[in-house]
Amino acid sequence: MNKTIKVRLEPNNIQKTMMKKSLGISRFAYNWALNKQQENYKENGKFLNNYDMRKEFTIFKSLEENNWLYEVSCDIPKQAIKDAERAFINFFKKKSFYPKFKSKKNNMQSFFQDTFKFKVNESKVYLSNIGWVKLSEKNKIPIGHGKDLRFKNIRINYDKENWYISVGIECENQAFKKFTYGIGIDLGIKDLAICSDGYVYKNINKQSHVKKIEKKKHRLQRILSRKYEMNKKGDSYCKTSNIIKLEKSLLKINHHLRNIRKDYINKITTEIIKRKPSFITIEELNISGMMKNKHLSKQIANQCLYEFIKQLKYKASWYGIELRQVDRFYPSSKICHNCGTIKHDLKLKDRIYKCDCGYIEDRDYNASLNLKDCETYKVLAL
Ligand SMILES: [Zn+2]
Repeated sequence: MNKTIKVRLEPNNIQKTMMKKSLGISRFAYNWALNKQQENYKENGKFLNNYDMRKEFTIFKSLEENNWLYEVSCDIPKQAIKDAERAFINFFKKKSFYPKFKSKKNNMQSFFQDTFKFKVNESKVYLSNIGWVKLSEKNKIPIGHGKDLRFKNIRINYDKENWYISVGIECENQAFKKFTYGIGIDLGIKDLAICSDGYVYKNINKQSHVKKIEKKKHRLQRILSRKYEMNKKGDSYCKTSNIIKLEKSLLKINHHLRNIRKDYINKITTEIIKRKPSFITIEELNISGMMKNKHLSKQIANQCLYEFIKQLKYKASWYGIELRQVDRFYPSSKICHNCGTIKHDLKLKDRIYKCDCGYIEDRDYNASLNLKDCETYKVLAL
C-alpha cells in the first residue's frame, strides 16, 4: 500500500533562510545538469548518465568560486541531478515534453530530503542541515519507520507562501493499519478526555464560570426548598407567586448549564474528528459501577460522557472514521504501554504510571495509548 502524506511546516526564520537556500541550490543543480546534457549532446551527440554527471558536478563543486554549493545537504544537488536525468529519460520514452529549465518564478518549488537522514516525532520532522522543524499538525506522519513501513521520496515544497513536507509511505496492508494515525481516548472525571495524540480536554465543570453558575443554582435550590417547607399544608403545599418565580429561574439556570456542557462537547468532538484519524478508540463506560459512588455519580452525570460518545459516533460516521469501542473489562489503565505488563495493584489515586521496565507516564495518557493499540473491539461507526 502506498500513500503520500503532505503536512504544512512551521519553520522559524533561520530555518526558512536555509530552506530557501536549499531550493536555490536544488534548482541550480537541476539547471546545471540540463545545460551540461545539452552541451554534451551538441558536441558528442550523446547523453551522459547519472554517474558521469555526478562526477562532473563534484569537480565543478570543488572549484573555489562554487563553495556556496556546500552550504546545504549534499543530497539536494545529487537528487536534483538525478531528477534531471529522469526528465530526459521520460522525454526519450515520450512520457513527457523536452525538459525545461527551472525558474525562481515557478509557483511550486521543491528540494529533496534523504530518507535515512530523516527523522520524525509526533510534532516535528528532522531535515538535514536544517534541524527539527515544527509540523502544523501532530501525528500526521507515522513514526514507525522500519521493517514494515518505509518512507520514500521525501520532498520539501514551497508555494511562495507556505512550506510543506510530502512523504511517500510504502508498507504492508496490515502494517499500515497499525501505523496510521489512530486516536485512543481515555474518558474520565479529572479531565474529560485524554487523547493518545497528546491533546487533553479539561473538565469544563471545573472552570470558574461554570462553578459560579453551579453555585447560583445550589443557592436557588436551597431557597426554594425552604419556601416549600414554609408553605407546606399537610401533604400538599401552596405554590406562591414567589415560588413560581424561583422555579422559573432554576429552570433557566439548568437550561443554561446544559447548553454550556453540550456546546463544549460539540466543540471538542468536532476538533477530534477534524484531525482526521483513521480510527478512534474509546472505552465502554461502566456507568452503573461508577454511579454507585454518590459523589462520583453527580460528577459523571455533569461530565455528559454519554453525550460525548453519541456525538463522536455520528460525527465519525459522517466522515467515514472507524469508531472502536473496547470492552469495559480491558485493563487500559493497568497495562504498561512499553512492555505490556499488567499492574494489578494500580490504585485510583496513582496518577502516574510507573513500571519496573523504567516506563513512567501519566496514568490516563498511558491508558489512551493502550486503547489506541487494543486489537479487540466493537465497531460503533464506520
Ligand atoms: Zn513496563
